[in-house]
Amino acid sequence: MVDTQLRARGICDPRVLAAMLAVPREEFVDEALRDDAYGDWPLPIGGGQTISQPYTVAFMAEAAELRGDEKVLEVGTGSGYGAAVLSQLGAVVHTIERIPALARRALSTLARLRFSNVHVHLGDGSLGLVEESPFDVIVVTAGAASLPPSYTDQLAEGGRIVMPIGKCKSSQHLYRFRNQHGALSIDDLGTFAFVPLIGDEGWRAT
Ligand code: SAM
Repeated sequence: MVDTQLRARGICDPRVLAAMLAVPREEFVDEALRDDAYGDWPLPIGGGQTISQPYTVAFMAEAAELRGDEKVLEVGTGSGYGAAVLSQLGAVVHTIERIPALARRALSTLARLRFSNVHVHLGDGSLGLVEESPFDVIVVTAGAASLPPSYTDQLAEGGRIVMPIGKCKSSQHLYRFRNQHGALSIDDLGTFAFVPLIGDEGWRAT
């Protein structure tokens, strides 16, 4: 996976590659899907949601430019895999999921595998997680039509937000926002397809 899916497509941060090697992806998917765990595609995790393909997880982690001392918010816990990867790269990770069954299962997987610097929260992550803010990095694994104002409010000086945004629910561009002295700079990192961010500052549930 690391050579053929990540290095070959330009992921080169050695810390990100090491994190992708360290986290056992097969532990975050259903027993029946374990043989497919390292495939170059997303996999279903229940509740109509998916665990992103390894390349997408690594790309977002690299874009977050983590050095090891950051407080991170991940929005969209899903299986817990992305949070586990981020936990290898930052100091502490808060991850929030809106679907109770997914949050419960991710909590139990992360505890069993002893990812002790990951904290799982249940709630509407389109509002961020104000009680734990400010964050150095916010990684959002579901797409919205625009950047939720709560994220900019909860971002530390010098902080980054990595988030898919698009006017269609199922196709977005991935953006990196950087807070530089109170102003946001924006990098467009290309086209991706994520599930929708459902919530008060995201899409309406249908
Ligand atoms: N990071 C996950 C993993 O490693 O398995 C994959 C996340 S999946 C692509 C996106 C997740 O975002 C889904 O689990 C979905 O339920 C969640 N989600 C969507 N809207 C949300 C919201 N407002 N707050 C929290 N989670 C949300």
